[in-house]
Amino acid sequence: MIKSEKTSINKKEYKYQRKKESTNFGERNIRPRKRVLSDNYLYCDNCNKYNDGLCPRGCQTYEANHKANHAKYTVSSGLKIMKSTIPGAGLGVFTMKEFAKNTFFGPYTGERHRSAERANQSGYAWTIEDDAGSVYNYIDASDPDRSNWLRYVNCPLGQNDENLTAIQFNGEVYYRTLRDIKAGEELFVYYGDEYAKALGLDSFDHSIENQTIVQSFLTPHSIVSSKTEQKQQQTTSAKKQKTVKRDTIG
Ligand SMILES: [Zn+2]
Repeated sequence: MIKSEKTSINKKEYKYQRKKESTNFGERNIRPRKRVLSDNYLYCDNCNKYNDGLCPRGCQTYEANHKANHAKYTVSSGLKIMKSTIPGAGLGVFTMKEFAKNTFFGPYTGERHRSAERANQSGYAWTIEDDAGSVYNYIDASDPDRSNWLRYVNCPLGQNDENLTAIQFNGEVYYRTLRDIKAGEELFVYYGDEYAKALGLDSFDHSIENQTIVQSFLTPHSIVSSKTEQKQQQTTSAKKQKTVKRDTIG
């Protein structure tokens, strides 16, 4: 999945990327073609249902951020920030214990602003979209004194290494575990196709990997591209997918 000549990624080349997730809800009353997005719901891939929070059947858990003044010290219990296994990527986030699939981390914190240019230069900004799919603002974690540990989660070099997905929920971005994660693993969240491209990586194909999860990637700006739309429609018609998102880090 990785272009060999780009194996070593300079941190400065990490652009930024955003992701976002969108939820197409309404399997019932909504026509499949109509793109209705709302981040007021979380999808449970065990139950194949949308809920207005974590699944009431106990399928999902939440690991809150730790409060602190600097991003490094906000890391949730059971996680540690150390040198990434990705050459040139700087710091990364590692597990010190096991985390079950469907554990939510977050929210991703940072400065909120509406400048696509700043977001693009930051490398740490996630896009927040409104229900219509337009960019509403960015959560920019470029300043470690005004953000938290999620900024240190790197984009994986290959799809097999991906173990988190970024999700927009109630105007915030959370990272959700895609599978059970063992102690000692580095956490990775896909930043989206545009970001991956900037890193010299091939795009990940989530339609194949995650049958229950649909990913819509947000980009900084105008990228709710036709590609994204296509994916969402595919998903919708494939039944049950929802959306997920990814995050970035630099
Ligand atoms: Zn459930």
